[in-house]
Amino acid sequence: MRLVVVGAGITGLTAAFQWRRARPDDEVVVLEAAARIGGKLDRVRLAGPWYDTGAEAMLARVPEAVQLVEALGLADQLVAPATTRAAIVLPDGRHPLPAGTVLGVPTSADGLAGVLTPAGVARVRAEAALPPLRLDGDVAVGALLRERLGDEVVDRLVEPLLGGVYAGRPDDLSLAATMPALAAQLGSAGSVLAAARAARDAGVRSRGDADGPVFVTVAQGIGSLPAALVAAAGADVRLRTPAHALRRTGSGFELSVGTAAAPQTLAADVVLVTAPAPKAARLLGDVVPGAVRPLAGIPYASMAVVAMAFPAQPVAAGSGLLVPPVTGRLVKGVTVSSSKWPHLSGGPDGGGLLRVRASVGRYGEEHQLQRPDAELTGAVVADVADLLGLELPEPVETHLVRWGGGLPQYLVGHPQRVAAIHAAVGAVPGLAVAGAAYGGVGVPACIRDAHRAVAALL
Ligand SMILES: Cc1cc2nc3c(=O)[nH]c(=O)nc-3n(C[C@H](O)[C@H](O)[C@H](O)COP(=O)(O)OP(=O)(O)OC[C@H]3O[C@@H](n4cnc5c(N)ncnc54)[C@H](O)[C@@H]3O)c2cc1C
Repeated sequence: MRLVVVGAGITGLTAAFQWRRARPDDEVVVLEAAARIGGKLDRVRLAGPWYDTGAEAMLARVPEAVQLVEALGLADQLVAPATTRAAIVLPDGRHPLPAGTVLGVPTSADGLAGVLTPAGVARVRAEAALPPLRLDGDVAVGALLRERLGDEVVDRLVEPLLGGVYAGRPDDLSLAATMPALAAQLGSAGSVLAAARAARDAGVRSRGDADGPVFVTVAQGIGSLPAALVAAAGADVRLRTPAHALRRTGSGFELSVGTAAAPQTLAADVVLVTAPAPKAARLLGDVVPGAVRPLAGIPYASMAVVAMAFPAQPVAAGSGLLVPPVTGRLVKGVTVSSSKWPHLSGGPDGGGLLRVRASVGRYGEEHQLQRPDAELTGAVVADVADLLGLELPEPVETHLVRWGGGLPQYLVGHPQRVAAIHAAVGAVPGLAVAGAAYGGVGVPACIRDAHRAVAALL
């Protein structure tokens, strides 16, 4: 039996590994269009240690990522953050991130002073006087919260948190897809504040006595996982080998693969497509025409990450800063990695340097990325030096990594779109799709989706 996986990101490589464990004698081929494995996971040497330039933290509450690292024999590489204290930068200065919110949605009006103006806090408090909330279907996060809690909650609190995860805008993003825990409570709670409290409490209950860290990383970089997966999966990974077309044959499938200069066909008994939605739409056109429209309805945001090492100097920014558009800044987030992660804080090979990464680019703001590399890097370094108030603002090393089509946008109606895709694809025996486009963009969610797809195919 031959499984062909399209895409060597975390989803495709996890699936290859899982398949190998379940059926050791099968042939597993992974087709990758790029010249390297990993997709949105990558790492550089930043003045010494390995440093992630794609995903840099994994939610430990979705246990599949930690379990995968353990299954790869890398448990000793898991690192918990030294601090998760972050601040929000607003036009009037920096404010500690209020505790106990659900992705920025407050559970009460208390503790919001500073981040919100007195009028903004009053507006949140006033939700109690609104008629009970009734929701009919999916809505945009922004539309609901602006109506119930006012604009400030959206622009100053939810935008930086939700925007940090999706590089998207609350006014576009689906409540059901991006805040499912909150959406699940809204029907019965009657108000957003009550639903946020219920969602928070349900989260605490489901974690039980698990009082481990909320996030973890990997000492050699999350970007080290793809190579570890390839080694453990014993998969035949073919780089620079895009899949162009998929056809059904009597007993399975045939793929057109490779470059225009060197086209090939490849037979497969089972196919898992983990390429981003636009590529998946093109690939599945013949075999699953019903999946094309909903796949094409999932747009992507592009972004860039600049990794920077500065001379050792004190900074008081906790784990980092969230920088919403109301500030008018280029940078949308700063992670102070040398404060956040103990293994990057100096140590034997860390050299005591200040290691920081900053991200730029939101959905619909691609123009910010359309500058030459040196100019973009210089503008980000200047913004970061100003935001952190650096005394020694000249970096000793920088790396710019561009992520074109980095993050799928879960727009209003996303759950219905995903259900339609799975229904259409699931009607073709031996075929599945998985990855960040569907049930969660985070690395643990992608790993979980790979498990789901492999289980369905097996
Ligand atoms: C800058 C950035 C920061 C992030 N930070 C975090 C974070 O801190 N924590 C977190 O949990 N998540 C984070 N994410 C999200 C997470 O990294 C991604 O959602 C996840 O890695 C996507 O994995 P995937 O395998 O589904 O897709 P991808 O990584 O996109 O892999 C798909 C692969 O398919 C290949 N491909 C495409 N078309 C074809 C084709 N026709 N034939 C063959 N191959 C093809 C691509 O080249 C790619 O390698 C971040 C994402 C970005 C961009």
